[in-house]
Amino acid sequence: MQTVWVLGAGQLGAMLEQAAYPLALRVEPMDPDAPTLPAIGDRDIVTVEREQWPDTALTRHLSEHPNFVNADVFWRIADRFHQKSLLDSLDVATAPWRAVEDDSRADWLHSELGDDVLLKRRTGGYDGKGQYWLHRGQDGDEVPGDWQGAAIAEQKIPFMEELSLVGARDSSGKQVFYPLTLNLHCNGILMASVAPLQRVEHLQGQAEAMLGKIMDAMNYVGVMAMECFRVGDKLIVNELAPRVHNSGHWTQAGACVSQFEMHLRAVAGLPIKAPEVRGNSVMINIIGVERDTRWMSIPATQCYWYGKEVRPGRKLGHINVNHPELAAVRGALNTLRQQLPAQYDEVFDWVAAQL
Ligand code: ATP
Ligand code: MG
Repeated sequence: MQTVWVLGAGQLGAMLEQAAYPLALRVEPMDPDAPTLPAIGDRDIVTVEREQWPDTALTRHLSEHPNFVNADVFWRIADRFHQKSLLDSLDVATAPWRAVEDDSRADWLHSELGDDVLLKRRTGGYDGKGQYWLHRGQDGDEVPGDWQGAAIAEQKIPFMEELSLVGARDSSGKQVFYPLTLNLHCNGILMASVAPLQRVEHLQGQAEAMLGKIMDAMNYVGVMAMECFRVGDKLIVNELAPRVHNSGHWTQAGACVSQFEMHLRAVAGLPIKAPEVRGNSVMINIIGVERDTRWMSIPATQCYWYGKEVRPGRKLGHINVNHPELAAVRGALNTLRQQLPAQYDEVFDWVAAQL
């Protein structure tokens, strides 16, 4: 059986593995610290579930393999300096930014970008880690020493809401897209996604043109996600993820081909198709909360638990709620709300306001 080796062995790799069965592919997620190096067959393929990785014997073995798909893409996206430069060169709207050099001062960044400036580490940030706000005149309004030369600075975008687009491209250049997804982040962590949403349908063409241009420019193959801010009817790219993405998890329940299967089809040279979308989907991330098996009894839900140790702020699982009738989705969310801690109240309030 043809094997797709995945660099990384977290939940995204596990969900790729789950999606591989109907394609008769074998997916092998690999921990970067794995002690033994696998023998990769001539027809095998190497892909990733993360855009950066530590330098280990295993990651060198996989990333230097001739069948490593998108080999030249990851360094450009994993480093925010290169990613922002790429967006600028393609004339794709993104938050105005400056490189933070060894001698960059907060005063200068404020004069270039305004009163509120967000420092983001060039590499390694996720779930809002690796961010530092500079607010003019307030305590802490200095570039921390260890951020100099290692970050970019972004203008604060006064966005109305955050949307993401998940798309895929095959090696012939064919592109397909899921509907725009509306996302709620709290403290930099994705908490909930809603799709599809009629009120953002008029932005779909704009979003597809942006992500399509990016994927074409890099001759990209596979699934890519584009996180955007919405300001009026204009989309501004926040960041790109050259992989399956948390905001696409709803496609497991809400589309005839999930983002995981779509990625495998594209990298394995199988046909990709525009996904038919079923019903209304809401995805709730389970962050820092113990599993409650009552979730599994709620009609219209699909529960994923990643089997990780429970820690505050950690992504431990997600619940997809999907149904053709909005009333059934609302009913499931009301039940789920009673089974999750009070810190989820704002998440459920937000979701209810979207449906
Ligand atoms: P991820 O987990 O998606 O990789 P991340 O930690 O890499 O996240 P970003 O996606 O860049 O970081 O930012 C996290 C969140 O912080 C965004 O979803 C948004 O809510 C907020 N944010 C980021 N950049 C800006 C900005 N320029 N202006 C206002 N808010 C921002
Ligand atoms: Mg993000």
